Amino acid sequence: MSLPFTLTTKKQFLLINPYACDFTCYDYWLKPLGLLYISSLLKLYGHKTVLVDCLHRSFGAEAYGKGRIDSMERERPDVLNGYTRKYSNYGIFGKKLHNILKQIESPDMILLSTSMTYWYPAAAETAEILRNIFPGVKIAAGGSYVTLCPDHARENIDADYFFEGADITAFMELIGEKPASFEEWPAPDYSHYGSLDYAVTRTSGGCGRSCPYCGISRIWKGFFTRKAEAVKKELKSYYSRGIKDIAFYDDALLENPALEECLESIPEAMRFHTPNGINPSAIDNRTALFMRKSGFISPALAADTLGSAGQSKTTALNIESAVEKLHAAGYGSGEISAYLIMGLPRQRLGDLLKEAVFLNRLGVRVLLAEYAVVPGSGYDEIIDPKILKEPLLHNNSIFPCIKKERESIPDIKIEVSRLNGEL
Ligand code: SF4
Repeated sequence: MSLPFTLTTKKQFLLINPYACDFTCYDYWLKPLGLLYISSLLKLYGHKTVLVDCLHRSFGAEAYGKGRIDSMERERPDVLNGYTRKYSNYGIFGKKLHNILKQIESPDMILLSTSMTYWYPAAAETAEILRNIFPGVKIAAGGSYVTLCPDHARENIDADYFFEGADITAFMELIGEKPASFEEWPAPDYSHYGSLDYAVTRTSGGCGRSCPYCGISRIWKGFFTRKAEAVKKELKSYYSRGIKDIAFYDDALLENPALEECLESIPEAMRFHTPNGINPSAIDNRTALFMRKSGFISPALAADTLGSAGQSKTTALNIESAVEKLHAAGYGSGEISAYLIMGLPRQRLGDLLKEAVFLNRLGVRVLLAEYAVVPGSGYDEIIDPKILKEPLLHNNSIFPCIKKERESIPDIKIEVSRLNGEL
């Protein structure tokens, strides 16, 4: 590939995280972490960066910094017409986005991040707006949608370059800069945000396992860790900025052998969250105690598929053992939660309910994680090719893989809320 510009002087990059289009969207510690890392790296090399994060909320924080994102109803794409729920744009879009971009000096290059595959119409519309406002400026697109649906992204997003996976070597080479390994990545660049209720970060990237429903191995080609000193310094910098809530985006947080070192001498008031779930088999007495002392709030165990993946006995024993150790470390019953994936292909919802009851008996709060289709995962062979081909049908809200049992979902949700004592 030839350079998109002559690298004689330092350049200005516009980084943009598009809005979302969906049936629902909530700021569950949602930040464009990849773009924030790239922003830091570009600055290290002397470039300027401007970030437009269309999903950032500047008010309305609820528990631990999470919160609702402003939305406005939009027309449902034809392929979703069988679903009656309201379909909306979330975040900054349309005229408001146009006006914000109009005020930005024309950059030398634009980096467009993509996230959920079924949000692609919003990413495509954002690229269109960028083309109109900044004609002639090269656009590079990356992120989960581009990685998981590379051909579809090339057909639908008007960009000049596409980058798949978490490795940024190809991008750095494109702009004529030295690539940096994950270990060398600086802290994410939060300087673009005026106010922040929380920060997200990683101590590691990737996961050594390969669960059939997961696409992580398509994004990270291995398991990588950051230097403990760098993570520690970063966490302390958030605290001095008044940010106490930190969500780890790690895919296998407890598998990082340097995790304890990362959190050594961190201020006690800091609170750590595990939105991706943690591996129950990695919790022994020492880890449980470390988590309690370090400020991990409501640890969320990845129970995932107690019955559906042929690993029920092992997983159930792991969960029982992890819960016992977390209790012994001081977590009360209501403080421990576990994710169960709902909507997997061939899953029987009756089994899911039994799994929820099992977790409830252990004193664990059940969190239902609605399954979104991940093309290229181990489930490709048993998912309808029409669904794999159309990213709008990957949407977890429509439960694309359990058509026959779909009508019982509201009852399952009510029953789980009842078990959790929320009704
Ligand atoms: S589901 Fe979790 S444990 Fe399984 S491969 Fe994905 S990140 Fe790893």
